Order: sequence, then C-alpha cells, then structure tokens
Amino acid sequence: AQADDYSLMQQAADYYQQQLQQHANGPAVQQYLAKRGLSAQTISDFQLGYAPDGWDGVLQQLSNGKPRALREQLVELKLVNRNDNGREYDFFRDRLMFPIHDKRGRVIAFGGRILNDGQPKYLNSPETRLFHKGRELYGLYQVRQQPGHLKQLLVVEGYMDVVALAEHDIRFAVACLGTATTSDQMHTLFRYSPKVICCYDGDRAGRDAAWRALQNALPQLKDGVELNFVFLPDGEDPDSLVQKEGKAAFMARLEQAQPLKQYLFEHLLQEFDANTDGGKSALLVKGSELIKQIPSSFYQEILQQKLDNLLGRSSERLKPVNSRQQARPAPATI
Ligand code: ATP
Ligand code: MN
Ligand code: MN
Ligand code: MN
Repeated sequence: AQADDYSLMQQAADYYQQQLQQHANGPAVQQYLAKRGLSAQTISDFQLGYAPDGWDGVLQQLSNGKPRALREQLVELKLVNRNDNGREYDFFRDRLMFPIHDKRGRVIAFGGRILNDGQPKYLNSPETRLFHKGRELYGLYQVRQQPGHLKQLLVVEGYMDVVALAEHDIRFAVACLGTATTSDQMHTLFRYSPKVICCYDGDRAGRDAAWRALQNALPQLKDGVELNFVFLPDGEDPDSLVQKEGKAAFMARLEQAQPLKQYLFEHLLQEFDANTDGGKSALLVKGSELIKQIPSSFYQEILQQKLDNLLGRSSERLKPVNSRQQARPAPATI
C-alpha cells in the first residue's frame, strides 16, 4: 500500500456516511432504508453510506486543494474513474454504500447498491493494491468486534444478508462477496472458528455456490473442524428469510444444517446412479478424487467408509485406491 491509501479510503467512507445522514431525509434514500428494515444502529455499526448522484462528489471532497498526485491515487484506488479523454469522475454514484473492511477494520473497498431496479444491482470496487476479492470476507471485522468466544461462523452471499442478520441480532455472519467461497476464504474462516456454516440463496446460483464451496473447503478440512450447509426455500435468501420468520426460526434452521458428509453424498448420488456399474465406477472415481484432498484423517476415514458402503464393498479392498504408498517394484537386476 502507498502512504495514505487507507486514510483516503476512510475519508471516502466518512464522506459517504455524511451524505447518508444529509440525504436520510430525502425521500428516496430514507424510503429505501426503511424498506430494507435497517435501523440507525445497524447503519452506523456497518458504516453504511450514500454516494450522491453527481459526477464529482468524492473527487471534490478528497482532492480539492491537494497536489495533482492525489488524483492519481484516487484513480488507483478506484474511487475515481478516468476516461480516455482524461476526464475524471466518481466511480460510485447514487448508490447505497457498504464499506468493506479488512480484519483490522481498515476500509479497503466498497460495494454500492442501486436504489431502484437498475443495472448493475451491485457495483464493487475492482481489485486494487488494497483489495483482493477472493481473500476478504465482508463483515469479518464486525464479527470480531463481538465480545467472547466465536462458536460458529455463518457464510452468506451478500452484503444485505450480513447486515439484515445483524439487525436481527445474529452477529456471526460474513459474506464471500459474490463469488463462491474460495479456498483462501475457507482457510480464514476456520482460523476464526472451528465451526462454519454455509447458507447461500435458495436458487440455482446459491446451490452451485454451495457445491463449489464444499470443493474449495476440502483442502482446509483439518481434524477438529466442522462444516455444515443450510439450504433455503426457493426464492429466499438469509435477508428475506430472517425478515419473514425472525431470529428464532432462522437459528433453528442453522441447528438443522446438513453436515458435510450428508451433503457431499446426497450431491454425488444425484449425479451418479449407484445401482448401475457405470454409476458406481463414476462414483468411485469422483468420490476418491474429493476424499484424497482432505488433510484430516478423521474426515478421510468417515467419508471413505460411506463411499465403501455405497459401493457395497469392504473398506479393506479400497485401500490401494486411496493410499499412494504402495510398495515399489523391486529394481530389476542387471
Ligand atoms: P439484494 O437483497 O440487495 O437485492 P442480494 O445480496 O440478495 O441483494 P444477490 O443477487 O443474491 O443480491 O447477490 C449476492 C451478492 O453478490 C451481492 O451482495 C453482491 O455482493 C454480489 N452481486 C450481485 N449482483 C452483482 C453484480 N451485478 N455485480 C457484482 N456483484 C454482484
Ligand atoms: Mn442470489
Ligand atoms: Mn440474495
Ligand atoms: Mn437479497
């Protein structure tokens, strides 16, 4: 990071926050926040802001009277765009702003949501020298602010899911920022809590995200960790559901989460038919490929046992498939 990068990002966050306070009486922003059910406390906990509908709000605020080099820095941090003609203008305009903090609480990027149903719905800071999307988790800083031991971490898709859950006093959720939860993110999650629950949207994209998250998690499965999955009703996401049914019902869903083992085999059995030889052999190949990525001997064993059961064979016979330490052939004598 260049000197003052973090300070500039914080100044931008402060500016957006001020704009939200000033515009909070304006009908559009106020109505939107009310519609999303966000209280003043939650807005302040997550330092939510508003990027005004002009071309140079943040540009003026941060660069007026400052040396030219500072404008360059604003462009590099993607707070400001520069077009081919050299014209500079704010990157975020007329959007509800979610600052993304690193785990120490420094602002490293923003997500901005449009207030109506225009496109794109969310605009995120592109990668910069401060922000590497696949490594960060939205809301982790706020989760870490909670006193006491962290028993579990919930991974959701969106900013609004994290914020709405916090509004309902569920303060252990983080978002993976749109893409499927990466291996890096899984590593981070298990560093903060031995128990992680994935809860993505109840749609095709959410179910695909769950399967990708499982695959990315396998290399991070050490002994002593636990990974569970919650699948939501069609058309719901954690935000919509917690608004609808409240904290207790949502917590009950988390209690009934599917353990990794159950989800993994249910998914494989949807893809492959264990009643045919072709299905069985595909199941063996795919299952073994997944299992061998796991460092935990506990998970290797219980998943291997389950796979053996499904294939109708004893564990002993499968050993050579799983273990690479077979005796080497004796060298030929010359
Ligand atoms: P909302 O409830 O505000 O409509 P959401 O969080 O439910 O939003 P989803 O469409 O489920 O929206 O997307 C989940 C997450 O994926 C978003 O929070 C955002 O981080 C990311 N995302 C969604 N759409 C886009 C987009 N067009 N560009 C970039 N990121 C996006
Ligand atoms: Mn979605
Ligand atoms: Mn969603
Ligand atoms: Mn939503």
